[in-house]
Amino acid sequence: MRRRDFVWLGSASALGVPLGSLTGSAQQRPADLTAGGAAPAPTPPLPSPSSSLPPDIIAPKDVPFGGTIHLAVDATDVTRHIFGVTETIPVQSGPLTLLYPRWLPGTHAPGGRIDALAGLMIHAHGRRLEWARDTVDVHAFHVDVPAGATQLDLAFQFLSAGDSNEGRIVMTPEMLNLQWNSMILYPAGYFVRRITVEASVKLAEGWQFATALEAASTAGASTTFKPVSLETLVDSPMFAGRHVKRVALNESQSVPVRLTVFADRPELLEAKPEQLDAHRALVTQAYKLFKSHHYDHYDLLLALTDRMGGIGLEHHRSSENATAPTYFTEWDKNVDTRALVPHEFAHSWNGKFRRPADLWTANYNVPMRDSLLWVYEGQTQYWGQVLAARAGLWSKEQALEILAEVAAVYAHRIGRAWKSLQDTTNDPIIAGRRAIPWRSWQRSEDYYSEGELVWLDADTLIRERSGGEKSLDDFAGAFFGINNGDWESVTYTFDDVVNTLNAVYPYDWADFLRTRLENHRSEAPLDGIGRGGYRLVYSDTPSDTFKKTEARRKLTDLTYSLGLVVGRESKLTDVLWDGPAYAAGLTVGTQIVAVNGVTYDSDRLKETVKGAKTNSAPIELLVKNGDRYTTVRIDYHGGLRYPHLERDPGVPPRLDQILAPRN
Ligand SMILES: [Zn+2]
Repeated sequence: MRRRDFVWLGSASALGVPLGSLTGSAQQRPADLTAGGAAPAPTPPLPSPSSSLPPDIIAPKDVPFGGTIHLAVDATDVTRHIFGVTETIPVQSGPLTLLYPRWLPGTHAPGGRIDALAGLMIHAHGRRLEWARDTVDVHAFHVDVPAGATQLDLAFQFLSAGDSNEGRIVMTPEMLNLQWNSMILYPAGYFVRRITVEASVKLAEGWQFATALEAASTAGASTTFKPVSLETLVDSPMFAGRHVKRVALNESQSVPVRLTVFADRPELLEAKPEQLDAHRALVTQAYKLFKSHHYDHYDLLLALTDRMGGIGLEHHRSSENATAPTYFTEWDKNVDTRALVPHEFAHSWNGKFRRPADLWTANYNVPMRDSLLWVYEGQTQYWGQVLAARAGLWSKEQALEILAEVAAVYAHRIGRAWKSLQDTTNDPIIAGRRAIPWRSWQRSEDYYSEGELVWLDADTLIRERSGGEKSLDDFAGAFFGINNGDWESVTYTFDDVVNTLNAVYPYDWADFLRTRLENHRSEAPLDGIGRGGYRLVYSDTPSDTFKKTEARRKLTDLTYSLGLVVGRESKLTDVLWDGPAYAAGLTVGTQIVAVNGVTYDSDRLKETVKGAKTNSAPIELLVKNGDRYTTVRIDYHGGLRYPHLERDPGVPPRLDQILAPRN
């Protein structure tokens, strides 16, 4: 999965709970309640563990589920965003528990939208059966299957978001994103790879689709797919829509890699040959890196939209990518969006094929654990950016400009003082990607980009110590290049990672990794940049990529000067913890009304910061917070500061070598 934007973060959100409210007065002791001389009332029974807890839900076993589940999705109601589902499940009489997927692969969190499931009716032999929702696990439904019944007939709806405040929009009048995990109830007690499902979908008239599933038959607007395991079904989502372009990304007949683009409007599909060639080069560069493929065909699904919600979600044989509508047509303005596709593609190897042992689960209702996400996501973030450069989706300069931003963000990630990089692997479960007010202090899934810096550190260390003979490419080939052509997951542990690194270049890799995962230093792990032949420096002019990303996101990013980011409606979207703006009392959501007595605009604020370098007066901001107007003074005189990587001529240009295409 692709993380949220790594530089300009957060959005207007509620203020944090004041610390004082957490440490209110001590609770009254029971003695205080009975003081006063009156005879104590009879003691009511103390609460105790209730015997009425529902029984445990049967654990998944590695045994075949008898018969085939038939699942039919009606995805034609695109105006009202309603998916209609009917399902038949072979059963035997007796108690049965049906599960709605909760722990979703690639999201690393319990994000299944059970709240969107409605209208559930279950019948057997035409007779309605009552179901009982489990009161502990609300994703589970208990049913008593009557004697003689051999199948259950289910009907329900998935009421997808009609407004983005209800969640990600997955259906618009132009396109949809069907994720099978939202559309199915499945029996408890089985590994999902042992449950067979035959799925079909009905789309709006004239719509086309793409998915890694293979069609068995079509009838009008309905398509039935070849039966697959529930694991493969959930791993094979669909994009569909009215405006579609199909592109072959390789010439292989036996293992085709296909790009299917969906767009809000047909003119957004216009792609230049060199843009498509860069996507083709991504495939060849990934094969040179990973020395394998783990699919029999691959479908890169790409939606260019500002109406359907954004996504980057990996699968073995496909990926879901939704990004800026002008991805192709305003190529130069969308530099930062071009790391999305390489990241998700690299996940076919890192994350789907090789998967952390504690993250792999037998079904979608067993909790996942995220301790190795600094490999799963951190190294994918690294390879995604390296492959973007090697494929020509980025120039070397663009890759270095993006890396400068990453380095600067983590050089200012003060939250490391209390929260280790390792602890950030719990963030998907802790925070569920909700907006947070103090990103630099709370940290947020930093295993992605701080993880990327750790892998750059490891790569350059191997290159330096081996005299350029070895690199992290060798790790990728050894770790991900096994079982070519196969896509059964192979799990790994921390020790497996260390052992493979040692096989590439012997070093105390366990200590190397643990130090970087567990430390509380104020310094970011920037050794890889230094060993790569560059220095992180700041100047008063933003890089071209920095400027374009600011423009695309409609932000003014003064993180490294005033310690704030201004977004739409001149509201602060980020304030650096302990930075100059923080010291002046500013917080996320505050609106800047005026700068030194004159109406706010982005250029005026930047000019003022520049001017403050040569005088001693503080910068005065009139700000609005709720219905209160206040004047704050920021005593900052360091001028504008933007991050860059500057070549260090004393060190070989290892970063240039890393970013250069493989022959
Ligand atoms: Zn990812």
